[in-house]
Amino acid sequence: MTHKVMPMKVGVARETVAGERRVALVPEALGKLQAAGCEVLVETGAGAGAAIPDQAYVDAGAKVVSTDELYAQSDVVLRVAKPTAEESSRLRKGQAVVGLLQPLLDPQLMGKLAERGVTAISLDAIPRTLSRAQTMDALSSQANVGGYKAVLIAATTYGRYFPLLTTAAGTAKPANVLILGIGVAGLQAIGTARRLGAVVSAYDVRPETREQAESLGAKFVKLKTQIDATGAGGYARELTAEERASQQAELNEAIGGMDVVITTAQVPGRKPPVLVTAAAVEKMKPGSVIVDMAAGPLGGNCELSKAGETVETPNGVTIVAPENLPASMPAGSSAFYARNISALVLGMVKDGNLNLDFADEVTKATVITHDGAVIAEPVQKLLQPAGGAA
Ligand code: NAD
Repeated sequence: MTHKVMPMKVGVARETVAGERRVALVPEALGKLQAAGCEVLVETGAGAGAAIPDQAYVDAGAKVVSTDELYAQSDVVLRVAKPTAEESSRLRKGQAVVGLLQPLLDPQLMGKLAERGVTAISLDAIPRTLSRAQTMDALSSQANVGGYKAVLIAATTYGRYFPLLTTAAGTAKPANVLILGIGVAGLQAIGTARRLGAVVSAYDVRPETREQAESLGAKFVKLKTQIDATGAGGYARELTAEERASQQAELNEAIGGMDVVITTAQVPGRKPPVLVTAAAVEKMKPGSVIVDMAAGPLGGNCELSKAGETVETPNGVTIVAPENLPASMPAGSSAFYARNISALVLGMVKDGNLNLDFADEVTKATVITHDGAVIAEPVQKLLQPAGGAA
């Protein structure tokens, strides 16, 4: 056994994807890594998008370095979004990269990183029901920010009040808000919309969400069609065509009476389900607002949403489809993310070095590539010629 005298160097990369303003570590998160024997390097300008100047990292004991130095010197590179092609080409053998790498959506990137001998560790692969992993759950922390921000966007887009207001100039009725998908984002959206005084309804295909929604003051929309689409790991499974059709007919009715609809429904690794059809939008009143949190390259929850854009329909409904809500609240989301990523990394550091113990559930689930190979089974399957996502 060899003992490295040099401390492990943990590098914080500057995000380069358009619109990505988050940063993987905030200065407040450096202390624990340093206490575990790591030296922190920060790529110059890494915190700029989140209004964190380089000097704040220096004050916290980090070394601010150039892009070349960061990739050349770091043993572990911390980031938010998966590396771009250019960034991937800078990663080298023996180096580890940690971030929200989306291995199931981009297995090819994992294949390339494996070829380069890079150890890819993905925060979105942590076992979320494991209580020890909750501090590492970046999907939850970021969905929380998203759910909150989606409601604020809806409230500012909607041309009326959210709360019931009685004034000398008359009474304003409270807004009727429907939240579709009651996961982490949906629950935060319910709470936020309730705090703004809206009348909130919510719907999900996992029956256990009813109680959760009601405890936050929302009315659960109960459809006559009984659907229990509880899938593995607490996620929803994809509905059958039959289930989809009966769900849609009933949902359309509920949607028509709403002032605001916020959609958050996802099925891991799949195209998001369409819950708000063009016909449903047509039935909404002018001035109504839809915020589609699921909109992305694979589509969204609303048939008419365009990822990254705001669309106004001929009948006066505004459909907002923000692609990266957490990045629009970069300081807040980065502070949470930094906790998540440092908790994950700290769990893998021993005596100041990265020590991967594959008997550990978190390590086994999150290490996607290692020693030149893709080792995560779900990703291996996607890379097999016969496999492939539907
Ligand atoms: P998600 O982002 O994958 O999906 C959001 C919601 O959309 C889910 O509630 C899902 O049921 C719902 N949905 C999917 N298809 C739908 C459809 N056709 N119609 C209506 N709704 C639909 O979910 P998430 O927020 O990441 O949470 C997933 C699960 O993980 C939840 O069970 C959550 O409680 C669980 N979780 C557990 C822990 C923990 O135990 N520590 C931590 C975080 C999340």
